Amino acid sequence: MRASILTIGDELLIGQVIDTNSAWLADRLSELGFEIIKILSISDSSRAIAEAVNELMGQSDIVISTGGLGPTSDDRTKPTLCELFGGQLMLHKPSLSLIEQLFHKRGLPLTETNKNQALIPSSCTPVLNYHGTAPGMIFRKGNCYLVSLPGVPFEMKNMFTGGVRPFIEQNFTLPAIVRLTVNTFGIPESFLSDKLRGFEKYLADRGITLAYLPSPSGIRLRLSATGDEKSRLSSLLDLAVNELKGLIGENIFGFNDETLPSAVSKRLREKNTTLAVAESCTGGYISHLITQLPGSSDIYRGGIVAYSNEIKRNVLGVSNELLMSHGAVSRPVVEAMLDGTLRVFRCEYAIAVSGIAGPTGATTGKPVGTTWIGVASSETQQVELFTFGNLRDINIQRAAYTALFQLLKFMNHI
Ligand code: ATP
Ligand code: MG
Repeated sequence: MRASILTIGDELLIGQVIDTNSAWLADRLSELGFEIIKILSISDSSRAIAEAVNELMGQSDIVISTGGLGPTSDDRTKPTLCELFGGQLMLHKPSLSLIEQLFHKRGLPLTETNKNQALIPSSCTPVLNYHGTAPGMIFRKGNCYLVSLPGVPFEMKNMFTGGVRPFIEQNFTLPAIVRLTVNTFGIPESFLSDKLRGFEKYLADRGITLAYLPSPSGIRLRLSATGDEKSRLSSLLDLAVNELKGLIGENIFGFNDETLPSAVSKRLREKNTTLAVAESCTGGYISHLITQLPGSSDIYRGGIVAYSNEIKRNVLGVSNELLMSHGAVSRPVVEAMLDGTLRVFRCEYAIAVSGIAGPTGATTGKPVGTTWIGVASSETQQVELFTFGNLRDINIQRAAYTALFQLLKFMNHI
């Protein structure tokens, strides 16, 4: 079954709003078993809407559109669809009563413009909107459905999940699809694909597809299997993951939504222990990644952004002699930062990072990207040199995620 996505709004075409609706919908629709054949963004003009709807409906079994359902004159979707599919605008009472409740709750008067949001073409099946004023609409022409939803992401998502998804499940026979993401860190993409050449053949023989999704936080390997029986597909993927563990087990830190910060937090929690961080070039980013997770106070004691030599000396107790003879970006200084962090925070584990994020700051023998990363427990420590690239923001991210991965490996080995 073929699906396409249409996002409507002038703001999308001038780069003012990033089209996140398409990515979200594409993920949901492919999960349901659709093949997504096209994603199109167009302006708010009636002509562009009519052309795009006709084009996409000619090629797809379902088209989902978002945007342009607002009460203002620049929102052209509803009148255009009413013209295209016929019928006239009629009051949809359940939608009006939801709009009344919404305004009552916010203590706002209900204007004629807002009431008009409950007028929908008689040719459509409505989708209730519990979080905003514009109802969704489902039209049919031949064997193709058009689903029109508001542009506001949280309204669109709730309506898709609560109204559109059940409609799809009732009206389409779709293949079963099972997806599983294996999250890896520490092997560059080209090395990984060399290592997995045999595994790719293994997958192809079983009809499983593999996608590499690289980012500074690691490479996610997405395995997908399509067929008619979910349980059989799940066992196929489980076997494939076991195979993968035999090849790159050391580099796998989690599955699906697990991230490096969540894997580190989970491990610390399992060990019932705590962490503190001393950061120079990452400027607090490691602490930010950890504290973004709810409940992080169980495992995270605190962090110091030791950006200047003075703070490295006065707060972490790094000696002036080390700083002068080796420079702040050096193994001995990171070792001393680890000692200082364990002492100041009285915790079991520490991370320390010192590097040159760039674009300036390089010295002879220390190019931009030079980064020393250390991890320690109260008994032992491990410090390694990494050489990242030339881009400051990517270097900061890579340094932070590398530090978390180093800590995870360290905790698993001791
Ligand atoms: P409303 O009833 O709230 O006016 P609407 O259907 O008219 O809904 P739009 O006016 O098109 O929606 O968009 C409302 C807001 O939703 C935009 O300002 C934008 O922030 C966001 N939005 C619209 N389309 C998208 C999209 N494709 N991806 C992400 N955000 C979007
Ligand atoms: Mg709009």
